[in-house]
Amino acid sequence: MIESHLKFNRITLVAAGLAYLFWWFAVELVLPGSYNPIGSRLAVVCLCWTFGAASYFLPWIARRIELAFSLCAWIATFHYFYLFYMNQADLNWLVGCYITVIFACACLNSPLHLFAYCVYVLILSAALSFYDPYLSKKIFFPGMATILTVAYLSLRSRVSLLHRVRESALRIQSFLDATFEGIVLHDKQIILDVNESAAKLFGYQREEMIGMKVIELVASESQALAQKHISIESEQPYEVTGLRKNKSKVILEVRGKKHLYEGRAVRVAAIQDITEKKKHEQDRIVFEATREALRIRDEFISIASHELKTPLTSIKLQTEMTKMNASSGKEDAYSPERMRHLVDQVDRQADRLVSLIDDMLDASRISLGRFPISKSRFHLSDLLQSLCDSLRDEFQRARCSLQLQIEPHLQIEADPARMEQVIVNLLTNAIKYGAGKPVTVGLTGSENAIEIFVKDQGIGIEKVNFERIFQRFERAISANSISGMGLGLYICKQIIEAHQGSISVESEVGQGSCFRVRLPRTL
Ligand code: ADP
Repeated sequence: MIESHLKFNRITLVAAGLAYLFWWFAVELVLPGSYNPIGSRLAVVCLCWTFGAASYFLPWIARRIELAFSLCAWIATFHYFYLFYMNQADLNWLVGCYITVIFACACLNSPLHLFAYCVYVLILSAALSFYDPYLSKKIFFPGMATILTVAYLSLRSRVSLLHRVRESALRIQSFLDATFEGIVLHDKQIILDVNESAAKLFGYQREEMIGMKVIELVASESQALAQKHISIESEQPYEVTGLRKNKSKVILEVRGKKHLYEGRAVRVAAIQDITEKKKHEQDRIVFEATREALRIRDEFISIASHELKTPLTSIKLQTEMTKMNASSGKEDAYSPERMRHLVDQVDRQADRLVSLIDDMLDASRISLGRFPISKSRFHLSDLLQSLCDSLRDEFQRARCSLQLQIEPHLQIEADPARMEQVIVNLLTNAIKYGAGKPVTVGLTGSENAIEIFVKDQGIGIEKVNFERIFQRFERAISANSISGMGLGLYICKQIIEAHQGSISVESEVGQGSCFRVRLPRTL
């Protein structure tokens, strides 16, 4: 039984009861002295209302509401014919009979019920004309015949209209069933209708889903999101985890829309199972990540080999030359001065090798999440001063003058070894990329923070590379021009962020760069 049909019959039963009661008062007022017993009328009214109320609680009455309605119509008609007879076929009561029959005919929607009712009324009329000597048959029969004919004709047109409506509803339903998407129609979250795909998707029978709350189809973790979209009447697609009848979960894409259904605005949701699509997406992401990891590994091997080869080649060259001189009996080919210079060079290349390997080890520790920071309080001003002093030779070799603007006695709570790593990195970069121009190193402190800056007037960096150079293996220059692995700034950033600080760069191509490190001051 269609919900709207049930509603119509319930309302009609209540209205019929009220009308029947109203007629009792009308007769008492207009036709005093008529035979108009309240008891039998109340019995008919109670019957109508009882059926109406029972249809709410007893599903089998709800399913047979049309039959219950017919029964009430038959009893009311019999009652009125009886009153007509008891009032000696009074013309006023004849009108009452007509009204009762017209009302009953208008409310009977099934041709079978109407046909049975017409036969019944004809039998009652025949019985009445047989028993009632006062009945004017010339008035009574034509009137009754007219009512029944008109009722029959009007029902025919109503039925054909109903057929057409039903046909178009069936056509729409078959269209909906033919779609692969699940369609759920709901009003205030109560499901009014679903298509076959939706029933299949959730593992229910179609009838089982009607009357269910739409939120019952959503897994608890997604219910808040679904509620939000329904309450704001959103028409944007969104993803939720759906819950099947067998409690298994499924990933859904839902698009909701307002829709006019039987004269009221309801919500229609188009639902698509995207579990497989999501799985493929996930597989693709894993595949891409693996490919990227392999690319990074290959790139790393190539960069690292190149970088390690340079100092090793230099060391090899120096030792080969010494060996050659020794084997040709020219042990004294080198003066002590030249020898010291040679050892210095080998030592520097060995230092370079150690620093490269340290960087590689640090990068690997960071990616494995094993990068310990052990904090202690120390004088940052002193550390910066001593690092600048120890690198003075390097600055001289690169022909860069070094200017210091260090605020004295600044203390900080941090990892001193890691801070040294950051400062040395920034200073060596200033030497490498500083183009032999002056470099300024500064340290300033405010109440809450400390700032270190290293400023050169070298090759500079394009703005598009400002973010990129702090990532692993990323360089802003070609590999052949100045050697490097692209790990220094990446390690610096990780160290600074592990201290809740930040590192940034300001630069202009050809004008130089300024790297700034800001650290919270936890005194
Ligand atoms: P590396 O110096 O080994 O290449 P870094 O991580 O220290 O690696 O630096 C990344 C990139 O940032 C460098 O390759 C360079 O292009 C750029 N860069 C770093 N410091 C400077 C600077 N002071 N001036 C210009 N470019 C710089």
